[in-house]
Amino acid sequence: MKKALVLGAGGFIGSHLVKKLKKEGFWVKGADLKYPEFDETQADEFIIGDLRIQTVCDKVLDQYFDEVYQLAADMGGAGYIFTGENDADVMHNSALININIVERAVKYKIGKLFYSSSACIYPEYNQLDPDNPNCAEKSAYPAAPDSEYGWEKLFSERLYLSFKRNYGLNVKIARFHNIFGPEGTWTGGKEKAPAAMCRKVAMASDNGIIEVWGDGLQTRSFLYIDECLEGIRRLMDSDTFFGPVNIGSDEMISINDLAKMVIRISAKNLAIKNIDGPLGVRGRNSDNNLIKEKLGWAPSLPLVKGMEKTYYWINNQVSCKF
Ligand code: NAD
Repeated sequence: MKKALVLGAGGFIGSHLVKKLKKEGFWVKGADLKYPEFDETQADEFIIGDLRIQTVCDKVLDQYFDEVYQLAADMGGAGYIFTGENDADVMHNSALININIVERAVKYKIGKLFYSSSACIYPEYNQLDPDNPNCAEKSAYPAAPDSEYGWEKLFSERLYLSFKRNYGLNVKIARFHNIFGPEGTWTGGKEKAPAAMCRKVAMASDNGIIEVWGDGLQTRSFLYIDECLEGIRRLMDSDTFFGPVNIGSDEMISINDLAKMVIRISAKNLAIKNIDGPLGVRGRNSDNNLIKEKLGWAPSLPLVKGMEKTYYWINNQVSCKF
């Protein structure tokens, strides 16, 4: 039986990934600061621990694994990444985790290591026009991410790639673009735009107002969790391609249109009020040419399908909590 290790297995993508790997027949070990919030973990073994600490990493990555998935990071949505208040923690905490893990991955000569980078590494100067952002993989340099979160991701991409070059570590790198879906953070400050929008709409009374950060004309694309997992597994299974590659949707939408989509799903009558808030780049969309070329696949689920599932799940959470 193949053995997998999922770091960040208590988080949104990690907890879904554990389920997928179990379905595929892996023996799975997970590690995180916390258990998954919304469902029991399906990992065969789960270590609660802080991966910034070397002795914890010694217990977590303590043997050969066929596949290691490094998803643990100090992260959140715009309200966490772009205010500047968490910059030192974001850089220090995530860099320490990656430095600890890469060393042990080489020590145990693990089969393959997946690293989750982010669309936030792309230069701000290519994302000023909301209708024509450029996020092709090769546009990453000259580097100019608009957040320290993006800079740390870029540093860690290079860290893993240098261990590939010098120590033969079999590394695979994906740059995720806004992954969303049920069982993700939807309140508390670390939630992302799709979950925040669903929560605001679910909590609003009919004929009320929801607040949307910025002028709402900023654009993004959002990828449903199942397609993210499919992309990760396809990248891991490729014998020839290691990335970095975008895993994202290329269905770009403005934030106001995303809000309108959620309002339609809820069947409520709500108005949108645009207010000041932390924003990030003006426009961003996944460029899927490379993933199509190298893996013969790209995400295709319409955004509205994923948003329906997410809205119903968050609406249910809101009803249970309030
Ligand atoms: P998440 O916050 O739900 O999961 C990250 C997990 O890492 C959390 O459960 C957290 O407790 C854990 N963690 C943080 N610090 C830790 C530490 N010191 N020791 C042990 N565990 C620690 O985030 P997610 O959405 O599941 O994202 C997974 C990965 O994908 C992250 O690396 C993130 O940067 C990357 N990513 C996600 C998105 C997205 O849209 N969700 C986009 C781009 C990149």
